[in-house]
Formats: sequence, structure tokens, C-alpha cells
Amino acid sequence: MAAIFAFTCSCCGKLHEGSPSFGFRAPDHYSSLSEEQKLEVGSLSNDFCTIGNGEGTDFFIRAFPEVPIHGIERPFLWGVWVSLSQKSFERYRETYNSQVEGEIFFGWVCNSIALYPHHSPRRADVVVKGDKCRPRIVLHRGDPNDDPLAIDQAHGISILRAQSLAERAMHHV
Ligand SMILES: [Zn+2]
Repeated sequence: MAAIFAFTCSCCGKLHEGSPSFGFRAPDHYSSLSEEQKLEVGSLSNDFCTIGNGEGTDFFIRAFPEVPIHGIERPFLWGVWVSLSQKSFERYRETYNSQVEGEIFFGWVCNSIALYPHHSPRRADVVVKGDKCRPRIVLHRGDPNDDPLAIDQAHGISILRAQSLAERAMHHV
């Protein structure tokens, strides 16, 4: 039976329990704006973000690329923002309180994850989970298949690798 993830941290010596989850408060595009610009062209809530870009508006929502941990019930989660077309964004917002499980939107991942460096933009399917859970992200496999996050997502990671990633993300080592 799948177990709960827990480990004694080699950085701080504490027991960390539960599958790790790390998130970004905003898309990188938003975080890089000045405070003035944020007020002028940006809008940010827990699950939605829009940024006016002069010619139009960019639309973002929060979602999770789940990375399975071998033998563990719950996946390793990275909370990132993805940009959607206006049509997809509006559809997601309209159905937010009565989500259609299994509905899929195309999006671009809009945060760079330091522990998963990758030099080209990440394309993804955003899959609605329903029950007011944030959607999950299934990354497209590129050609060449060199995105470490897409590889980990497809194959899952060992408990040791999950521990190492969690320690580095938690303690910035
Ligand atoms: Zn620790």
C-alpha cells in the first residue's frame, strides 16, 4: 500500500511529513513588474492573474505539475502559473465554482523552477480536476526529450530524490 512521505531532514534535522508542495505567488511576468506597473496593468488573486501588455491582456491561472513519488500516495507538487488563451481563461473562470472534471486547456508554464532548469518555454495540458481542486499540469514531451521536469513527471521519482529536492527547495541549498 502506498505510504505517506516523511523524512528526517539532513539540513535542519527535523522530521518533515507529507508530500512536498512548493508554489509561486504569481507568474514570473507579474513578479518582474514594478509596484507601479502592478497597480496599473496587473491584477492578481489566489488563482487568477491578468496583465495588460499594451496591445491586449495576458491571462494566467494557478495549476500543479504533479510528480509521482514511487511508493508514495500523494505526488510532489509544484504550484506554478500557466498562461491561457483568453477563451480558455474565461471558460475556466466561468466554471470555477462548478468545475468540469477532465476538461483540458492548453497553456504555457510561466514560472522558472530553479531546481528544474530548462531553457525553452514549457508547453502543457492543464487538466481540470473538479471539486474546486486546482488543475493539474501535464507537460508536453519535447523533442529532444530533455526537460528534467517532464521526465520526472512521466517516470516518477524515488523517495531519495524527492527528499533531496524537498531539502533544497525548503532550505535554498
Ligand atoms: Zn529541513
